[in-house]
Amino acid sequence: MSLAPATRKSSYTIASIPGDGIGIEVIASTIRVLETLTKTLNTFTLSFTHLPWGSAYYKETGTYLPKDALSTLRQHDAILFGAVGDPHIPDHISLWGLLLALRGPLQLYANVRPVRTFPGTTSHLRDAAGKPKSIDWLLVRENSEGEYAGQGGRSHIGQPWEAATEVAIFTRVGVERIMRFAFKAAAARPKKHLIVVTKSNSMRNGMVLWDEVARSVSQDAEFKDVKWEKMLVDAMTVRMVASPDTIDTIVGTNLHMDILSDLAAALAGSIGVAPSANLDPERKAPSMFEPVHGSAFDIMGKGVANPVAAFWSSAEMLRWLGEDDAADMMMGCVERVCDAGILTRDLGGKEGTAGVTDAVCKEIEKLKSR
Ligand code: ATP
Repeated sequence: MSLAPATRKSSYTIASIPGDGIGIEVIASTIRVLETLTKTLNTFTLSFTHLPWGSAYYKETGTYLPKDALSTLRQHDAILFGAVGDPHIPDHISLWGLLLALRGPLQLYANVRPVRTFPGTTSHLRDAAGKPKSIDWLLVRENSEGEYAGQGGRSHIGQPWEAATEVAIFTRVGVERIMRFAFKAAAARPKKHLIVVTKSNSMRNGMVLWDEVARSVSQDAEFKDVKWEKMLVDAMTVRMVASPDTIDTIVGTNLHMDILSDLAAALAGSIGVAPSANLDPERKAPSMFEPVHGSAFDIMGKGVANPVAAFWSSAEMLRWLGEDDAADMMMGCVERVCDAGILTRDLGGKEGTAGVTDAVCKEIEKLKSR
């Protein structure tokens, strides 16, 4: 869902940042699948710039990103990202050193996560008769400010009276643009329903501004068909579990949606298939596409990582670039492979990363003869 239209091209440049752990494995598989797709369809090309930024780079150079990282990325049409995180480096150093150092400066303010029960996965939610319920939600997370604005500090370190603050920042500009994006995304879906997640009962400043801006954006003539409601974040967790059918599009703050989106991915079936997009809806900067899962060092190097979340993220990248047909064809192939039971172990299958990747590439090659 873009606020500026895509400009289709015959050739796109993609910056690839595999990062750490299984990110490296699933991005290698994804590039293989994308190259098979472009060769088979022969309608556009993708050229990849391989960027080694991650925890190994940090250990070698003392920094996650070189000085010219942002200008390098700006020369590309999109960014494909794997994962960041290393057991030997504190998470706040790796996250702020790489991922958050890109999302903020590039103003990738909309984090979008489609969540649905994917072929081969079974939702953990069951109805009264014990049948799995299916989920089809769109989650929109404010990605540039709020609780992760980085404001705050520590003083009297090591003393019993040590103090630390983490200040959440909500700006009218920041809230209005994410609300406009979320209403537009809801309007484009059949149910035209949006839940604005809030906590304005106990957070009486930023969250009250959040609610006020939501109401004012809802009054825009463009959104007159969108039914919307406010919901406290605590009540939202219950609704996601107890009444998943009453949910369609959700928008929330950086922290709230960070938590709710992991819950959503787990409820839908598995984190191994969950995709995400970090978008600049105005298209001034390249948007970044990444699987929801992390670097998962526990399974690194074993060849068992599920590559589907990265495949799906890259299909969202193609859609963002304006290549909807290619995205649909790629997802059709991935779904047919999963439906046929060619699954990694996290989904109860027997295949490894390479087996699933091979099967998807073969399915794509079959498109030639259609
Ligand atoms: P974070 O960086 O968010 O802390 P993490 O690397 O610790 O994440 P998660 O992404 O939260 O791990 O995943 C939790 C666990 O789920 C992993 O440790 C791994 O066992 C499993 N897992 C995650 N992604 C995949 C995948 N793509 N394929 C198979 N298993 C996965």
